[in-house]
Amino acid sequence: MKQNTDTKDFVWTVASAEKYYGLKRWGGGHFSVDEDGFMLVHPSGDQRSIRIHDIVTEAIGKGLKPPLTIRIQDLLRTRVVELNELFTQAIQNEDYQGSYRGVFPIKVNQLREVIEEIRDAGKAYHFGLECGSKPELMIALAMHKDPESLIICNGYKDNEFIKLALQGRRLGKEIFLVVEQLSEVPRIIQISKKLGVRPLIGFRVKLSTAGEGKWASSSGEDAKFGLTSPEIIDASRRLKRAGLDDCLQLIHFHIGSQVPNIQTIKKATVEATRFFCELKKMGFPMRLLDVGGGLGIDYDGSRSNYESSMNYTMREYARDVVYNIKSVCADAGVAVPDIVTESGRSIVAPHSILVTQVCDRISKTSVSPKLASKKKRNPILVELEAILLNQHGSSPLERFHDAQQKKEETNNLFSLGYLNLTEKAEADATYWKICKELSDLGKQANYTPEELESLPQMMAEQYVCNFSVFQSLIDHWACDQLFPIAPLHRLNESPDVDATLVDITCDSEGKVSEFTDVEDVRKTIRLHPLDAKQPYYLGVFLVGAYQDIMGDLHNLFGRVDEVHVFLEDDEEDGFYIEDSIKGFTVNDVLGFTQYDGHILTRQLKKQIDRATKADIIKPREGTRMLDEYAELLRGHTYLVT
Ligand SMILES: *Cc1c(COP(=O)(O)O)cnc(C)c1O
Repeated sequence: MKQNTDTKDFVWTVASAEKYYGLKRWGGGHFSVDEDGFMLVHPSGDQRSIRIHDIVTEAIGKGLKPPLTIRIQDLLRTRVVELNELFTQAIQNEDYQGSYRGVFPIKVNQLREVIEEIRDAGKAYHFGLECGSKPELMIALAMHKDPESLIICNGYKDNEFIKLALQGRRLGKEIFLVVEQLSEVPRIIQISKKLGVRPLIGFRVKLSTAGEGKWASSSGEDAKFGLTSPEIIDASRRLKRAGLDDCLQLIHFHIGSQVPNIQTIKKATVEATRFFCELKKMGFPMRLLDVGGGLGIDYDGSRSNYESSMNYTMREYARDVVYNIKSVCADAGVAVPDIVTESGRSIVAPHSILVTQVCDRISKTSVSPKLASKKKRNPILVELEAILLNQHGSSPLERFHDAQQKKEETNNLFSLGYLNLTEKAEADATYWKICKELSDLGKQANYTPEELESLPQMMAEQYVCNFSVFQSLIDHWACDQLFPIAPLHRLNESPDVDATLVDITCDSEGKVSEFTDVEDVRKTIRLHPLDAKQPYYLGVFLVGAYQDIMGDLHNLFGRVDEVHVFLEDDEEDGFYIEDSIKGFTVNDVLGFTQYDGHILTRQLKKQIDRATKADIIKPREGTRMLDEYAELLRGHTYLVT
């Protein structure tokens, strides 16, 4: 939304901040700004709120440091309850004769406290777990307590995986082996015979409905998962022959994560329900339809089918799934199934906030060199100054063209040795001043010629943020996924600096130069000028899904510090930090690359001893150097500011 904040009589208020940063659009009622300009989180979607800045302050008091992951545990609960309630409502409204039996896919956020919170919040609804690997199944088996909730096993399975799942059956758990590939069928048959355990079996179907969005390749006929229709016929015959036909009870599909368009979901649901009905008519006791994940998050708040958005709500999703299953079953004259969903992203993304401190800025106009004395001045400098002062009364576009030409000339003159460094500095600085002025003029104008459109981006400041994109926002780097970003405080002050963000890795890809916007993608974000007297904190929101575990050790930064926050009605500020988890120390990350802190220290000590013997350093200096090295091994990998 174009909000012209550059006109003279515009007064910036906290409402302007809520609008500019899109809080009401992507926040789902969980974020707002208080009158002092602090960002608030409303964990339960009601009046109760926590100042996020207060959480940061308290975390620092506990010895933690940004970058910091904040988990709002009550927000996580709220999402679990919301999903379950909306399905319950949709089932009631449609007079649907089956029930809802959702599961949480562990791969979306495996952290124990996250899984525990989801399990506890979902207890009343018999909300279960989904796993896609042996380690995840091991988590599920131990964490799962409610015999009325499901465990769904997807993913490629070796014999150990199958055996482990069947052991779970022995404990009375309703645990489904969902067949991803044909070769699993004979192994499931054989292992269940050997153990004397009857398996519960589902088929994942390779739908012809292709997904849409960034993760579309999870479905369609070329997907790496699922059974084609001939394979389904073959697999079902094999089960029949083995006397396990009563074990096939579930149909599963998953069309990929973050499906932006509800039409895709409807089509896939209809197609999968047809499979369900056909198998039921073939005599299998089908009773569950698992519609997988894909329920999106509206990261940019545009409510569109753009890939970082979704053109539907959770309520609409629930209603459409229920309605379409019901009508396909009605047409086929088949009793409706219980409905399973495996929504991960939608449940966990909102609860987690990444806080980073802006620790420096890179600006083309931060220093203005002294001008060379008039007499000896190279004529080209005089010409550039004339453009800056607009002595010819030219249009912005003309000035830009002239300045570009002069800039190119100065580059050539410098390379050929006709311009010295001081003169080049003056030329560059003047050129950037011209660009800055043209960029500012453009913001006030109603119309900006195309060539000038990139100026704000070119002249934007780069705010250096203490974090690693590769650790904490991997999807932004890997697949251009956008996350909403906003300052945690000073939101009552007008943000007058156009900026992009760069991280502290030594990688030019470690940056954020695309930002969410309702209408388009922003190339810069407006932030506040840095203030030497107080740290400036930015929040990156909706980062609770996938980012934590997929992040990597680029530059050996590793995991960040983390706090788990709960609402507390008795506390003055309304919250308490239950757990705090330290991020990786230098020692930790060195261990991942086969170093050992003790050995490194010993190796350094030898060199120090040698230098002491040779009288290059004093023994006391040597000891101190070694102590400091050992201290750093125990310390943070990120910048300590
Ligand atoms: C990843 C995955 C999910 C979770 O998808 P979301 O879009 O995050 O809800 C669900 N089911 C399967 C089979 C998956 O692979």
